[in-house]
Amino acid sequence: MRRRIGYLVAVLALVFGGIAVTTVAAPVTASADACYTWNRTLSRGATGSDVRELQIRVAGWVASGENLVIDGVYGAATEAAVKRFQSGYGLAADGVAGPNTFNKIYQLQDSDCTPIHFSYSEFNYNCGARNFNGGRVTAAEAKENTRRVMWQLEAMRHKLGDRPMVVTSGFRSVSCNSSVGGSSTSLHLYGQAADLGLSSSPSQCQMWNSAKSAGFEEILGPGYPGHNDHVHVGNKSSRFWSAPNC
Ligand SMILES: [Zn+2]
Repeated sequence: MRRRIGYLVAVLALVFGGIAVTTVAAPVTASADACYTWNRTLSRGATGSDVRELQIRVAGWVASGENLVIDGVYGAATEAAVKRFQSGYGLAADGVAGPNTFNKIYQLQDSDCTPIHFSYSEFNYNCGARNFNGGRVTAAEAKENTRRVMWQLEAMRHKLGDRPMVVTSGFRSVSCNSSVGGSSTSLHLYGQAADLGLSSSPSQCQMWNSAKSAGFEEILGPGYPGHNDHVHVGNKSSRFWSAPNC
């Protein structure tokens, strides 16, 4: 969440000729985010790590069936996603990421750069290990992949009327995944997937449908074997959507 650094008052006590003079410096308003602060307006053609950080946060605001490439290049797809994000939060939808857009993102993120309604602790249960170790990628990669998933879920959650969604499984190590009967190629091994349980407020089919326009390419729900008690969403390069009962 946004951290406000209010007025920084510098008090300088200067002594001139034995007389103490206290000078109160003109206040400087500094606003920053404990997680990440953008220092420039971004628009079409911009490149850099700040574009990449923006892309992660708007990856859930794509067209149906689209998966935003997180490449640090502000192209047409990023511009369109920014427009949808802006529109979704009642901002002027110009596709340019300036102060209003960044302020909204600051409101939506926690100090660890995850969105306010999701946290790493919901994803790292890992059969009780409480970490991101033992998967098919390094723990750091799995954690970073999870962060992207969380921002996509935050977008889904907002589009579904700001109703809570409950993550029942996130990252799983190879051994954990085997023990719960997961596929040997499961996206859970990469931190690229989330299972949304029945105690979520939206229905399974609402979540399954909404995930299509939140950048997920693997979406499995009711009627697909083993998925009657949750909706599975994940990031991959090829599409696999199935929920025969929706
Ligand atoms: Zn799953």
